[in-house]
Amino acid sequence: MNKPFTPQLVYFEPNALEYPLGSQLKEKFEKMGVEIRYTTSHNQVRNLPGDNDFQRYRIAKSTLVVGIRKTLKFDTSKPSAEYAIPFATGCMGHCHYCYLQTTMGTKPYIRTYVNVEEILEAADQYMEERAPEMTRFEASCTSDIVGIDHLTHTLKRAIEHFGERDLGKLRFVTKFHHVDHLLDAKHNGKTRFRFSVNADYVIKNFEPGTSPLAKRIEAAGKVARAGYPLGFIVAPIYLHEGWEEGYYHLFERLDAELPQDAREDITFEFIQHRFTKPAKRIIQKNYPMTKLELDETARLYKWGKYGIGKYVYQKEEQADIKEHLHSYMKKFFPKAKLEYFT
Ligand code: SF4
Repeated sequence: MNKPFTPQLVYFEPNALEYPLGSQLKEKFEKMGVEIRYTTSHNQVRNLPGDNDFQRYRIAKSTLVVGIRKTLKFDTSKPSAEYAIPFATGCMGHCHYCYLQTTMGTKPYIRTYVNVEEILEAADQYMEERAPEMTRFEASCTSDIVGIDHLTHTLKRAIEHFGERDLGKLRFVTKFHHVDHLLDAKHNGKTRFRFSVNADYVIKNFEPGTSPLAKRIEAAGKVARAGYPLGFIVAPIYLHEGWEEGYYHLFERLDAELPQDAREDITFEFIQHRFTKPAKRIIQKNYPMTKLELDETARLYKWGKYGIGKYVYQKEEQADIKEHLHSYMKKFFPKAKLEYFT
């Protein structure tokens, strides 16, 4: 996806227009000629156009619901942060292995919350409770927040809010390259800007509706030059023909783009591909033509919470992945920190 996301259909929930962001969005979408509807609650967003589930799923992913975040109790977000900060849910991307397919169930539309100041005030309270400890907030647990931020600028607001806080840090990850409006945000080094990257083969085959690798890397270069602490999540690491070269090439391209002074503080997170039985069923329903390899018998079963185990790569394959990726990271980014391999 080269162009920034534009919804096909926008719903407004009651009271959303009482917030400045709500009315700004209404004006913006009217000017853009996007169809606007009003709903008593996002739960009522049922009669989306489309003849079948397959079509409705696709329409939902280009539908935006503008509403208010009622519960200001944040979920925990271990291990990468203490809390998930809720600015949006859902995503316009179509990654075949997206975790939102299982967590969002029948409501794959995108929601954005306009009571941003209330959400930030709640974050301040969490920071206060944990003081003098630092509190980290993850903004991409339930959406790809960068993917819609060119419309809302909520993330920009949050980056500047944390830029002024001593005891809080913000982090998020994205597969989109539409970052220009975030480059001049006064982040004060308090936000870690992470990109989800992968071998070209994986992005091309399994991540429709997101930015191509070259664009993500170019955006990472801009973000680094804007002084943000940078991070990369290589996920899901997927074994395919020529995967060693594919991932090597990824690191080579990162190396070619990133300025030297950004390399003192770069983090990597490595996550191997995994799936659960329920996720497999949903993936095959939403993306019936997928080439994604989901053969339980080829994998190692790992017991999980609530009796839902996951299928990961075999022990030797895991060791092979770890060894290769770690050596690439060390070769190109000797000062980078590997946060985890899972
Ligand atoms: S970009 Fe992220 S949140 Fe969006 S569909 Fe892909 S994996 Fe899911």
